[in-house]
Amino acid sequence: MPSATARKKERNTTVTTLSSRPTLLLAWYDRHRRRLPWRAAPGETSDPYRVWLSEIMLQQTTVKAVGPYFEKFVARWSDVTALGDASLDDVLRMWAGLGYYSRARNLHACAVAVTREHGGAFPDTEEGLRALPGIGPYTAAAIAAIAFDRHTMPVDGNIERVVSRLYAVEEELPQAKPTIQQMATTLLANARAGDSAQALMDLGASICTPKKPACSLCPLNEDCVARALGTQETFPRKAPKKSGTLRRGAAFVVTRGDELLVRSRPEKGLLGGMTEVPGSDWLAGQEDATAKQQAPDIKGLSRWQRKVGAVTHVFTHFPLELVVYTAKAEARTRAPSGMRWVPIATLADEALPNLMRKVIAHALD
Ligand code: SF4
Repeated sequence: MPSATARKKERNTTVTTLSSRPTLLLAWYDRHRRRLPWRAAPGETSDPYRVWLSEIMLQQTTVKAVGPYFEKFVARWSDVTALGDASLDDVLRMWAGLGYYSRARNLHACAVAVTREHGGAFPDTEEGLRALPGIGPYTAAAIAAIAFDRHTMPVDGNIERVVSRLYAVEEELPQAKPTIQQMATTLLANARAGDSAQALMDLGASICTPKKPACSLCPLNEDCVARALGTQETFPRKAPKKSGTLRRGAAFVVTRGDELLVRSRPEKGLLGGMTEVPGSDWLAGQEDATAKQQAPDIKGLSRWQRKVGAVTHVFTHFPLELVVYTAKAEARTRAPSGMRWVPIATLADEALPNLMRKVIAHALD
C-alpha cells in the first residue's frame, strides 16, 4: 500500500506536469541522444530505407548485434531498389547469424514490393506501410513517426518499461499493451513525433533500464509514480512465461574429404530456406534411436559416430536438443537427392542459422 506522502506526491505531480513531459523529454533527447548508424543527425531528414531496414533488423535483436549487419547491408545495397533487385539467396546469406530468418525473407519481399509497386518510395502512412510484407503495427508506427514525422507513438519494450513505470501500470503484459499504448501517446510532442519516440526509446535503453534505473538523471523523474513509490524495478508487470516443451532430434554431419553434405530447408516455416545438415524431425520426447533411423541413406559411408554431449538451442516457442552423428563418405560419393556437397572452407558463405553453426562446430571439434 503506498504511503500517504507518496499518494499525495503522485496526485500533485500528475496534475502539474503532464503537459510538460514531451518538452522535457525532447530537451533531454537533444542533449543525450544515442548516435546510431541508421539515425539521421540533428537537422537532417531521416532516410525511410535506413529507418525501415534498422527496424526490421532490431525486431527481437539488440542494437549492438544489429550494428555490423546494418552497415554491411547499406554498403552492399544503398537503397531499397538495389535490395529489391538482389536475389533472396544473397539476402539470406548476408542475414545469416542474425536469427529469426522469416524477417530476412519478408525484408526481401518488402523491398521487391516497394520497388515494383511503389516506384522505390515507401508509403508515408501507417496504413500504407502495414500493407507491406513484414511490417506489423509497431514497425509501421515506428517508420511513420521516425521517417515521416507522423503523429504516432510506436511502443517497443523500452517504451513499455518507461510508460508502465511513469504511470505505475498494474495490469500485466501482454494484456496491458493497449493501455500502455494510450498512455504513451501523452508523451508525444505536437511537432517532432519521430524525435519523441526516439527520445523514449533512448530513455528506456540508457536511463530507465530494467535493473537499477538511473532515476536521478531522468528528465521525467519528478513526475514518475513508480519512482515516488520506490517500486520502479517491479514494472512492467508481466504474466509468468510459458516455456515450450523440449524437442529432441538428431543432426547428421557427413564429410567427403574437405567437403560437407548440406541441404536447404523448405521455403516456408521455421528457418525457411536456410542451409542445414541433414537431420531428423524435432519432436517432444523423441528417443535417440528413433531420430537416428532418419539418417541419410548413403552407399559406402563409414559407421555413424555419435559425438559426446548434445547441441542445445532455444527458439521462441520451444527449446531444442540435437544429438550429433558424424560419418565419412568416400571420394566421388554422390549427394543424395536434394542435398549438395559444399567446401568446409566456404561454409561462411552459406545461409547457415546459428543452430547449424553450433552443430557443425560440435561435429568438427
Ligand atoms: S524516474 Fe526512474 S523509473 Fe521513472 S521513468 Fe525515469 S528512470 Fe524510469
